[in-house]
Amino acid sequence: MTHPDLTIVGGGLAGSEAAWQAAQRGIFVHLYEMRPGISTGAHLTSKLGELICSNSFGSNLPDRASGMLKNELRILGSLLLECAQKTALPAGNALAVDREAFSRQVTEHLASHPNIEIVRQEMVEIPDGPAIIASGPLTSDRLSNAIADLTGENQLYFFDAIAPIVTAESINMEIAFLGSRYGHGESEVGDYVNCPFTKDEYNSFEEALLSGERIPLQSFEAKIEKGVNAGKQQFFEGCLPVEIIARRGHQALAFGPMRPTGLVDPRTGHWPHATVQLRQDNLAGSLKNMVGFQTHLTYPEQKRIFHMIPGLENAEFVRYGQMHRNTFLAAPIILLPTLQFRGRADLFFAGQITGVEGYMGNIATGLLAGINAAYFLHGEETVVFPETCMLGALCHYITHAAMRDFQPMKANFGILPPLSSIERMDKRERARLFVERAQSDMEKFLSNNTGI
Ligand SMILES: Cc1cc2nc3c(=O)[nH]c(=O)nc-3n(C[C@H](O)[C@H](O)[C@H](O)COP(=O)(O)OP(=O)(O)OC[C@H]3O[C@@H](n4cnc5c(N)ncnc54)[C@H](O)[C@@H]3O)c2cc1C
Repeated sequence: MTHPDLTIVGGGLAGSEAAWQAAQRGIFVHLYEMRPGISTGAHLTSKLGELICSNSFGSNLPDRASGMLKNELRILGSLLLECAQKTALPAGNALAVDREAFSRQVTEHLASHPNIEIVRQEMVEIPDGPAIIASGPLTSDRLSNAIADLTGENQLYFFDAIAPIVTAESINMEIAFLGSRYGHGESEVGDYVNCPFTKDEYNSFEEALLSGERIPLQSFEAKIEKGVNAGKQQFFEGCLPVEIIARRGHQALAFGPMRPTGLVDPRTGHWPHATVQLRQDNLAGSLKNMVGFQTHLTYPEQKRIFHMIPGLENAEFVRYGQMHRNTFLAAPIILLPTLQFRGRADLFFAGQITGVEGYMGNIATGLLAGINAAYFLHGEETVVFPETCMLGALCHYITHAAMRDFQPMKANFGILPPLSSIERMDKRERARLFVERAQSDMEKFLSNNTGI
């Protein structure tokens, strides 16, 4: 029997998982990985599924967003999760791995699969036949050009700066207030949450920013010389990290991203000395983005320093600010929740390039793309997981988010549809209900789709 062929570009987290899922379903996979011949600048080895930064896959607890996603991947038979569990290190409630052993196991499993051929070569064009592109946030320049040609240059983003996101419910609204500058917002109460600073609070905050520890710059973040990204600098004037603005002079922030003009604090009746503004980040409004707060501080420093912001003293961060090259598509415009490209049913995207963030989320989209590519090649209908499950919610988010503010998103409870109960409940109870609903919906989904 001959197997239908599928080309997968990128042997990282998403591409490796996708290759395994498709191969297990009787598809012959040509897995293209450009390393070790060509490096991304961040990867250090030739292994498949290499972890480029942290060795943690996040919480294992079933009532955390990341734990919920792991449970779904466990049920769906994820290879990479299995390798992570087998190479786990003691890390409390988190799933952290021996990174070398992890990627070795992934490589061995894929290399010994009879339906997988690993091709150590850079893919410079979009393959003509059925394919999954999983080339990651550091996609090579030549392939980036080809993707930009396919999707339109404006549909490929290179975000170097990402601001932190917090959950709306963790903001102290006894201090923060709703409002738009001079009342010019779309909604009557105001489109922004504003965190007001007194002069003393501002001075202490500025001092903390100036002395905060920053992540060292990596070589791959230097100016890019070729391709659609040509000429981009490490920092753009329009999106400088807040700690760099603070260095430009005392009060620079108060005249920049923290300017208080037109924002009357209802408790004082005056403009504060400075403000941090937060803007809605998801459809449900459960997540808020810290406007203009892109930063290169280390994560622990962000937690410490940003908790000094009045109203954010107990803020729960679902994403910290980051500065790095990050190639991703305008997924809300060009992808379907099945991860198929809208313009070509035989072309799928997976991993960070789709706008999903975090190791586990990237593995999850690889798993879905692998399953759906196999379905497609066998002439069956591709599937969409229930939106109430974390995998379904991630795919729904990236394909339905408002394009204006679209930024990569990791697994979190804020992207799930709200619970029907309107009663106030504590965080743990809410998490338990989210998990129960997801489990029940996943069971129903799998009993209706027995082929998965
Ligand atoms: C600097 C940095 C640090 C990060 N740190 C973390 C972290 O600590 N925790 C976390 O959860 N997430 C982190 N992320 C985000 C993300 O989870 C990881 O980047 C993750 O590895 C993405 O998975 P992926 O499969 O999409 O891409 P990758 O794992 O990067 O896989 C893509 C693969 O495609 C290959 N490739 C690229 N172009 C081509 C081509 N033209 N032809 C053939 N092969 C090609 C690359 O060599 C690579 O092996 C980080 C991202 C960056 C950029």
